[in-house]
Amino acid sequence: MPFITQELRRRDVRAAAGMLFDRVHTVLVRPVMQSRVFLHAAGKIRRFCLVHFRKEYIHSQLLAREGECRQCGFCCNMLFTCPLLTREGQCVAYGVCRPRSCRVFPIDQRDIDEVGKCGGRCGYRFDSRR
Ligand code: SF4
Ligand code: SF4
Repeated sequence: MPFITQELRRRDVRAAAGMLFDRVHTVLVRPVMQSRVFLHAAGKIRRFCLVHFRKEYIHSQLLAREGECRQCGFCCNMLFTCPLLTREGQCVAYGVCRPRSCRVFPIDQRDIDEVGKCGGRCGYRFDSRR
């Protein structure tokens, strides 16, 4: 009998933990992951890692990239407005010390989609058949 009671308690605890996890996921995790802040923060971290640790990938992506920069500045305004961006939309660091992740933007379709989620349209594209 004590064994059955213990087993029932364990099940109750597991069920309660499961419900709590679902609740936290619905109320907290899902909205955060769907938020623009998370999207752009994840994008910035991903690009930082790619330019520093996946140089071959960057190289092949730059070869596959088509189109040209429209100078729209959307990629300088994601998550926060870059402090190096002037009111006239010029990059102060351009040609001097522009970060590597800026020089190779967009690296792949995910970056282009990120601009799209900001309401912009990047002038570059990647051929999905490659
Ligand atoms: S450093 Fe220049 S290119 Fe990079 S985000 Fe800032 S303004 Fe844009
Ligand atoms: S979003 Fe694309 S087109 Fe616009 S400034 Fe950045 S790289 Fe250029």
